[in-house]
Amino acid sequence: MSQTLNVDLGLRSYPIHIGSGLLADPESYRPHVRGDRIMIVTNETVAPLYLDPLEQALSDYRVSRVVLPDGEQYKTMEVWNRIFDALLQERFGRDCTLVALGGGVIGDMAGFAAACYQRGVPFIQVPTTLLAQVDSSVGGKTGINHPAGKNMIGAFHQPLAVIADTDTLETLPQKELSAGLAEVLKYGFIRDAAFLAWLESHMAELLSRDPNALSHAIKRSCEIKALIVAEDELEAGQRALLNLGHTFGHAIEAGAGYGAWLHGEAVAVGTCMAANLSQRLGWLEDKDVERLRRLISCAGLPTEPPADLSPDQMLELMAVDKKVLDGKMRFVLLKELGEAIVTDEVDRDTLYATLADRRS
Ligand code: NAD
Ligand code: MG
Repeated sequence: MSQTLNVDLGLRSYPIHIGSGLLADPESYRPHVRGDRIMIVTNETVAPLYLDPLEQALSDYRVSRVVLPDGEQYKTMEVWNRIFDALLQERFGRDCTLVALGGGVIGDMAGFAAACYQRGVPFIQVPTTLLAQVDSSVGGKTGINHPAGKNMIGAFHQPLAVIADTDTLETLPQKELSAGLAEVLKYGFIRDAAFLAWLESHMAELLSRDPNALSHAIKRSCEIKALIVAEDELEAGQRALLNLGHTFGHAIEAGAGYGAWLHGEAVAVGTCMAANLSQRLGWLEDKDVERLRRLISCAGLPTEPPADLSPDQMLELMAVDKKVLDGKMRFVLLKELGEAIVTDEVDRDTLYATLADRRS
């Protein structure tokens, strides 16, 4: 059983297919593949699990593959360049399709390679983590890290299709599942109080990977992301709402060293900090903040930053984050649970109070 929703971007519109058994089904790809050559980009962890069934499903085409090392620490220019080495070595022209098989790291790197190879070739996302299925595979942001900052080098490049096979989540480590749930919760917090209530009552099913619960959560998450992206593809305004918890989160990821904290874990803590700040500004009530923290904690996620990361270090790391505009820091904060806004009206003392507010 599968469902499809559409990301509405005019000529760059594309479908997201969600369901069981999609990865191994040739029909998932046939309408989308361009040219007769395919380069699958994947990593050393995902390849033994899903490369064979994917290649089977693509057996009508000439398929090559490039298997990268696994991890956020490899989301670098050097490792990214190996995709071009493979494409050039095998004399790929523009008439080809790249297929990203893996989590967000692979999706971002393969997508950015597709954006750049011979000035741009098409690509298909086959996300295999919950985070990639609800977030990174949708919306067209691609890129790699630089030693000075995460995702600092990249491009907007929309995929031809997203094939989210829920069966792949069965092999996902529990920590990674929780990290994906951080982004799922984010959609509820920023846009949909009813979804938030649904998540509260279905968290146990989600954590035990009930396929129906997962499908619903993925579909609703993608719907909200697709809606926001369609309103603001290049992040001139509303799209920034998707960064709830991310300004704090990126600082935590960078402060802990890339790879030490999962992106979703850092976002979870960042969301708690954004809620703390929202409360200081008089928008959220105590009980809202408590509810948010409880939900994040129930999803198996942390709610406090690393003990050894001081408020001053956090502040410094946040200042290099790309969401600083004209020297002013922009925050995504919560007016209430289910409604986010973007603001640059946060004074330094209030921010500092949030950064220094450690509960454990
Ligand atoms: P990831 O890609 O590192 O995957 C997490 C781990 O799970 C990896 O070890 C991976 O090899 C493994 N894995 C993947 N699928 C598996 C499966 N089915 N079974 C077992 N193991 C599996 O991390 P992620 O959380 O998917 O993505 C995080 C990345 O996504 C970050 O680099 C972040 O910047 C990026 N991101 C991008 C966007 C965007 O809009 N482009 C949005 C959010 C996040
Ligand atoms: Mg994110």
